[in-house]
Amino acid sequence: MEFFDHAETWDRTSIEAAQVVRLRNTVEQAGRCAFYAERFAEAKITPADIRVPGDIRRIPFTTKDDLRSQYPEGLLCVPREDIVRVHSSSGTTGTPIAVCHTRNDLNSWAELMARCMYMVGVRRSDVFQNMSGYGLFTGGLGIHAGAERLGCMTIPAGAGNTLRQIKLIKDFRSTVIHIIPSYALVLANTLRENGEDSRELPPRIALIGAEPHTEQTRRRVEEALGVKAYNSYGLSEMNGPGVAFECQEQNGLHVWEDAYIVEIINPETGAYVAAGETGELVLTTLCRAGMPILRYRTRDLTRFLPGGCACGRVHHRIDRIHGRTDDMFIVKGVNIYPMQIEQVIMAMPEVGQNYLIVLENDGPKEDLKIKVEIRDEYFVEDMRVLHGLQQKIARRLQSEILVTPKVELVQSESLPTGEGKANRVLDLREK
Ligand code: ADP
Ligand code: ZN
Repeated sequence: MEFFDHAETWDRTSIEAAQVVRLRNTVEQAGRCAFYAERFAEAKITPADIRVPGDIRRIPFTTKDDLRSQYPEGLLCVPREDIVRVHSSSGTTGTPIAVCHTRNDLNSWAELMARCMYMVGVRRSDVFQNMSGYGLFTGGLGIHAGAERLGCMTIPAGAGNTLRQIKLIKDFRSTVIHIIPSYALVLANTLRENGEDSRELPPRIALIGAEPHTEQTRRRVEEALGVKAYNSYGLSEMNGPGVAFECQEQNGLHVWEDAYIVEIINPETGAYVAAGETGELVLTTLCRAGMPILRYRTRDLTRFLPGGCACGRVHHRIDRIHGRTDDMFIVKGVNIYPMQIEQVIMAMPEVGQNYLIVLENDGPKEDLKIKVEIRDEYFVEDMRVLHGLQQKIARRLQSEILVTPKVELVQSESLPTGEGKANRVLDLREK
């Protein structure tokens, strides 16, 4: 087994020892801004109080609203001239938050990102094409820096413009791509329409992330693009990509515990969930000076995976993100996450690459409608066949989500797509 850096090979004792020292330093550093100074004073906590990993529980949580209230520079913990870059969240769920990085912060982020890529087999001889949006979105410059750190020939293609992406892949023989999973399926469609055989194209690895997706979708990306696809998780508040990443086992994502402390809590009570139970991911930066963030409630739902990983790394593994607490919608009194629906439909061979969940009012009644793209070969003229398929999808969904949805079959590539994060739910209900 080859490793990119030493911290990957640490055992639990080394990880925890480093975490205690780094957490203590982080508490000291964070105390340089008024927001955390007040929080720590209220909680009566000083850096010296951090002696064992469990002491983190004495620190209060930080929420997205806290970060919004401190926008843009309230959490700055270094002199302003030490900041060399600003990033911001994509604002999927409201007002943005901003994170300011020092040169050192950017360096350690690039190291983490390079480690992730190395772990899945990316080497300096690779050509890396980044199909993620650049700008404030961290999937652009964040992964870019990691690829350059590894020494890859790096192509900042940016998002969208599918035909140009294909041309770049061919012209520069890109072997590794970074792409949002929903857009990967759009790329796959375009390749097919252009009569390209993806197995003949150079990419062998795809880094996919930035939005929730299921195992079924990963397999589809792998098949359609002829690549191995690895799940990449991160968020702007914690730098961006490079927080947690799948290894070659493709069985959960290792969270880099030398750089982050990871906790999973019950979102209602704030208490730790029982081993293996799903809850809200809470993350703390350990290597950031510009804007350290402690016990950040990500609103992302996942669980710890039990046991060691065959790759030999002991950094805790989390399951793929099931969704965000804000993604959940309620229909007929039942809580539903889009990924429950995706999991069912993407497992069916008749289903194409896209779907849309529509919530509607029908008088006082609420309706859950799922528009599902059907592959051309199944989109036949025989109404009985189509009706049968519709019912099959509805039945399978009903047994997963306990609500019977209306299923509407639509032609492939008829639903809206984008180059950024997919919008899975359209809520047309009167509030
Ligand atoms: P925004 O919160 O505005 O989307 P970010 O661009 O920082 O801002 O996105 C981070 C969020 O994207 C995460 O909190 C998570 O909800 C989602 N995300 C990122 N990577 C993944 C992934 N691999 N799987 C599922 N969700 C992901
Ligand atoms: Zn592993």
